[in-house]
Amino acid sequence: MSYIETYYRRALGPNTVQRPVLEGALKVEVCVVGGGLAGLTTALELARKGRKVCVLEANRVAWGASGRNGGFVSPGWAARYKNIRRMAGDAHAKELHRLSIEGMDAVLKNVHTLAMEDAKPTHGIMGAVRYEATEDLKAHRDWLEKEFDYRVDFKSRDEVQQMLVSPRYYQALFDPNAFHFHPLNYARALAAEIERLGGGVYEGSPVVATTLGGATKIARTAYGSVEADHLVIASGGYTGNLVPQLKRSFLPIATYVMLTKPNRELIASAIRTDAAIGDDRRAGDYYRLVDGGERILWGGKITTRTTEPRLLGRLLHETMVSTYPQLKDLDVEIVWSGLMSYARHMMPQIGRLQPGVWYCTAFGGHGLNTTAIGGRVVAEAIMGESDRYKLFAPFGLAWNGSIAGRAAVQLTYWAYQASDFLRERKSA
Ligand SMILES: Cc1cc2nc3c(=O)[nH]c(=O)nc-3n(C[C@H](O)[C@H](O)[C@H](O)COP(=O)(O)OP(=O)(O)OC[C@H]3O[C@@H](n4cnc5c(N)ncnc54)[C@H](O)[C@@H]3O)c2cc1C
Repeated sequence: MSYIETYYRRALGPNTVQRPVLEGALKVEVCVVGGGLAGLTTALELARKGRKVCVLEANRVAWGASGRNGGFVSPGWAARYKNIRRMAGDAHAKELHRLSIEGMDAVLKNVHTLAMEDAKPTHGIMGAVRYEATEDLKAHRDWLEKEFDYRVDFKSRDEVQQMLVSPRYYQALFDPNAFHFHPLNYARALAAEIERLGGGVYEGSPVVATTLGGATKIARTAYGSVEADHLVIASGGYTGNLVPQLKRSFLPIATYVMLTKPNRELIASAIRTDAAIGDDRRAGDYYRLVDGGERILWGGKITTRTTEPRLLGRLLHETMVSTYPQLKDLDVEIVWSGLMSYARHMMPQIGRLQPGVWYCTAFGGHGLNTTAIGGRVVAEAIMGESDRYKLFAPFGLAWNGSIAGRAAVQLTYWAYQASDFLRERKSA
């Protein structure tokens, strides 16, 4: 049982310890299923408050999306603000946006308080657009400052092109508070902290059955079982049939990342910033320099197929070259994919299934700040400290439509791509 080949696995910190498989019977107050960032954060928040916790992970800590992603940590949710406002109302949408900022701050605080040097946080994420948007971006900047006291900087087309040598880009908003980092090292440090506080983290321990009816909840693995007062399901896009209600309520969506070969000089002819870059297209590109500018880590594309498409590296390479033609000779070294879980409304699913049974999942493609706040509000609810988790009530366990749902997601994605294309062409 090991991590798949990714940039993060190659750049793993010195602590590569393999955690034990659960054997025998264990009793805890809270048992968390899934050792991604949602599960680890929930467990850590509870362990910090003195609760006896354990995390059961089927593979390795952060083996799923949490250890393979782009590493961008920024405010917001996978659903767009205007859609959240439509679903939940203006005041509620603002409250949720504040939570998303709190989630980002919580991650940064963990990085600092736990002195995670190998998480290597670098501040600055630039949201660049591929069409003329000066007025819209300035209005958005002003709105963020007025509503959330959150400052971002506007960058003109000239300024953007100094940093991103591509004819594709127009203006950008630069967020100096947001950051990018090594998510796998971060997650592994959270696991170590849970253990330091007396919690258990078990790897290679998939939960294969649960008993949820009585006051004591039971999670069973191949070689052991856990009795707990509370069970939290945080198994992301890798959730199987363990809890059928959850399985029906989200779709696993695959997305992809590549790492280029090293070529500092060639890369500097295209990208001249250590900020991470994303565009505002649906499932658009996101990328950043790694290894001090030696390589690019480039992500993009989504499919509803959970197997890797053939020629994936070539597809991502084509996308990169369509933005930066000067990088046509920059080869791909490795490519990988990961599964995100998406509900139909694109908001996380956070709530209580029945007394003592919680779920904290469906963070989609914006999970690094949102898992931090998801885990925190579930922990607060278990402690009886707050009912902030109810802010997620408007986004219930909507049925995903199964095969029809998959087709609908793929069609919607293609329709979005078409509208992005038309918008860019208008500015060309
Ligand atoms: C390629 C990629 C790029 C991304 N880039 C970004 C980004 O730059 N910024 C951002 O904010 N978000 C990004 N995301 C999204 C983000 O990574 C996810 O939203 C987040 O990591 C989800 O965390 P999770 O804990 O819910 O799920 P996961 O990290 O997938 O964790 C779920 C875990 O549960 C385990 N599990 C499943 N079933 C069982 C079981 N029965 N028993 C025990 N364990 C089980 C799995 O093995 C897995 O480790 C990206 C995602 C991908 C895939």
